[in-house]
Amino acid sequence: MTASLSDFHLLQPLTIQEAIAARLDHPNGHFIAGGTDLLVNMRRGISNPNSLIDLSAIDELAEIELHEDGVTIGAGVTIAALAHHKFIADHYKALSQAARAIAGPAHRALATVGGNLCLDTRCIFYNQSEWWRSANAYCLKNRGDICHVAPQGRRCHAAFTGDLAPALLVLSAKIEIAGPQGRRQIPLSDLYVEDGRAHLTLADSELVVAVHLPANQPPSTYEKIRIRSAIDFPLAGVAVALAGSPAHSAGSTTTATTSTSCDDNQGEDEEGDAADEVEQAAAKVSKEAGRQQADDESGDDQPGEQGDEQGENDDCDG
Ligand SMILES: Cc1cc2nc3c(=O)[nH]c(=O)nc-3n(C[C@H](O)[C@H](O)[C@H](O)COP(=O)(O)OP(=O)(O)OC[C@H]3O[C@@H](n4cnc5c(N)ncnc54)[C@H](O)[C@@H]3O)c2cc1C
Ligand code: SF4
Repeated sequence: MTASLSDFHLLQPLTIQEAIAARLDHPNGHFIAGGTDLLVNMRRGISNPNSLIDLSAIDELAEIELHEDGVTIGAGVTIAALAHHKFIADHYKALSQAARAIAGPAHRALATVGGNLCLDTRCIFYNQSEWWRSANAYCLKNRGDICHVAPQGRRCHAAFTGDLAPALLVLSAKIEIAGPQGRRQIPLSDLYVEDGRAHLTLADSELVVAVHLPANQPPSTYEKIRIRSAIDFPLAGVAVALAGSPAHSAGSTTTATTSTSCDDNQGEDEEGDAADEVEQAAAKVSKEAGRQQADDESGDDQPGEQGDEQGENDDCDG
């Protein structure tokens, strides 16, 4: 059972400066972009902002700019626009694949890059309706005293479940952040910390403005394991970029989203299965990236690749 939305003020700034000022004026407010994560959490009573600062009318956030040093992707670019961008598909394949694998077509039309990077963490005991959580005495992350995943501990293990971050991490992405003190750039990896309750290093009035990707990327690819193959968050997502030349370094990164009770044997087995699946996915994506590299070296112009990607897209849209 889902509750109706509580009342809130809606603010619609037209510039980044206006958005920051609005956030400073409304300390209990929240930025909202596509709303595909935040509104669900509000309907569940997980998040209760009294003001929403809508970023969707800020033109500067909605651009993808190609330049000599790489590409800049505005935080307000929709996942659909990113997924269908030919230059991104050709030069940053893991990112394009990750975008195509996010949620369903209707979500992707509204969902944004910034919202994806700043998603709340998820947990089976947390992403539930208000009445379900109240019947279970809530939990450490929100209004409760214990963690149902690790009842003896004092830490929240809710997991980050965005698809774009692993792909962007292996592509050495930096993010640009704007706040009351001005703008700064940090490696994307510095946006996250290991704390399910407060996993972002953003200060209260700061927002992500853009993602910067360097040019001359090595071959890369992304694979995702999910329970429903049509629309679902990643149980695990694996991105791999291969070393291809002295300018390129190899890397891989994962997101994992299982959450099971610590004293549950079946849960441990399931975790083992998930780990096996992650290994298999990593092997599969490494092989795929190796194939791309071999194609590049042999000078093939990869005519089949668009077909493969189209197939993937059809699959995830189904
Ligand atoms: C059924 C369903 C399936 C889904 N499946 C997936 C999936 O497979 N993979 C996946 O990754 N996600 C999935 N999602 C989650 C969500 O749709 C996407 O992650 C989406 O990209 C979120 O973007 P948004 O613009 O809608 O974010 P919003 O809901 O608008 O915002 C999410 C959070 O980010 C903050 N925020 C937004 N923009 C900024 C910014 N520029 N700077 C700072 N903070 C900001 C908001 O304050 C909020 O806390 C799914 C959601 C649903 C409902
Ligand atoms: S990991 Fe524990 S504290 Fe965190 S959301 Fe889940 S049950 Fe709550």
